[in-house]
Amino acid sequence: MRSVKEIFDKLGLPPEKLKERLKKDTELTNRCRAGIQLLNINQAGVDLIKATDKTEAIARFRETLSPETSNTFIAAMVDCYTKGVSDQDTVAMTLTGEKLPVRYKIAIDASSRDTWDLVYVAVTHQEKETLTQELVYMTDIFEAVLKGIDVCVSHVDANGVFRKSVGSWLRRFHLQDDDLVGENVFNVYPASLHPAIQAGLDGEVVNFIDSSIERELDGREWYVRSYFLPAKQNGAYLLTIDITDLHLTQRQLEQQALALQRSHDELTQFAQVVSHDLREPIRTIELYTELLIDRLEDQLDEKTKNYLQTITRSVERMQDLISDLSHYNHIRPSDTLQKVDLNHTMESVLGNLAGAIKESNADVAYSALPTLKTNGHWFTVLFQNLIGNAIKYRGTKQAKIVVTANEDQGVWTFRVSDNGIGIETRYQNRIFEMFRRLHTRDQYPGTGMGLAICKKIVSQWSGRIWVESTPDIGSTFSFTFLEAATSHKK
Ligand code: ADP
Repeated sequence: MRSVKEIFDKLGLPPEKLKERLKKDTELTNRCRAGIQLLNINQAGVDLIKATDKTEAIARFRETLSPETSNTFIAAMVDCYTKGVSDQDTVAMTLTGEKLPVRYKIAIDASSRDTWDLVYVAVTHQEKETLTQELVYMTDIFEAVLKGIDVCVSHVDANGVFRKSVGSWLRRFHLQDDDLVGENVFNVYPASLHPAIQAGLDGEVVNFIDSSIERELDGREWYVRSYFLPAKQNGAYLLTIDITDLHLTQRQLEQQALALQRSHDELTQFAQVVSHDLREPIRTIELYTELLIDRLEDQLDEKTKNYLQTITRSVERMQDLISDLSHYNHIRPSDTLQKVDLNHTMESVLGNLAGAIKESNADVAYSALPTLKTNGHWFTVLFQNLIGNAIKYRGTKQAKIVVTANEDQGVWTFRVSDNGIGIETRYQNRIFEMFRRLHTRDQYPGTGMGLAICKKIVSQWSGRIWVESTPDIGSTFSFTFLEAATSHKK
């Protein structure tokens, strides 16, 4: 380096001026560059500049310094000489011609402070530094995760010995990071899990729940899910997550579901008893009332006859209610699904309603309906209830009823529109409840079960039923159906 020092001394410029001059004066830079001679280099340096060996690296070192790099390099030396520190980022070249982002740190050997005979250069590959920053960043994230959730991450070697262990749930047991180091994973888990652990140590991804770790934890039950993930070097990474809360919530949910099922079964049974066992006594009342009327017809005054007729009407109503309740009760998930052409279904519904249609002079129209894989009886009941209601609640106008079906992304929406009496907004949800009616039987006959039955049918395929209505203008009842794979438009 002596020649570099000599050049500088000759120029007699203060350091900052010198650096500026170097930037502009290429000839000066080249002269300095020629004065740099590499005396020794370690293997990392040889690899960094992609030389085949030390001899080549020493002989061709200058080739790694482009004019710009030479400037930076020399500026780093000037800094070192004047301020005692040097730290310069630049781009060097490898001997194979690739760019190499590096940082030069220069130190002048104490014995040659005045002569610059000997200078030490530490070259750091910048990408490695970036990698270090990335590592710090990832570590931050990792630490935040470990602090934030009840998790423990360990490295166990192929024999199952803990090599490293960090994580928040260790604190629950008053353990510090790495307290488990040296312990064997087979001693931590019960024998029943040893085959799974062995598989994990042999490189398989395994996971299991363990509730048997014998450590006291506020006398509480404790559940962990453990994952064995293959480690890069040796053994496995063991990720252990405390899932006690999740597990207990799940158990609670299961118990609730069981209780719900039980109460549903009881209700179904109750409805069965009501609809089946009550038929008989009601039938008896009906029969004996008729007998009474027949036998005593001449002796009965008008008032008594009225009483008996009221009993007969109530009996009929009770029979209707029981029949609808029984119908409601029998709507269950169906496994007899078939392709049903809903145009045929509609024809038979209109046949069933022919009397009411004729009597009211109702106008019922429907556009081409699809063929769907479903339970045909359900659609008969749906259309019959909705069209029947549209006729019943027509008011004083001639009923005009339109049935349509549209498909969007596999979901069919059926609509039954009428121009009848309509429904006030506040009742539009309630009418789908059991026995909910908005009128007396004198105004309109019925049990209040029709729409409840429709709702239960639609819920069999997780569909939705709703009404949009304006009083005195009309109503549109809509329901959705999730299209079965076999369905197609007619
Ligand atoms: P029901 O007709 O036996 O009373 P529903 O469950 O079929 O029982 O209907 C419940 C109530 O909803 C009816 O009492 C009626 O007030 C109202 N409703 C149903 N359909 C219509 C309609 N198309 N137009 C106006 N109101 C209706």
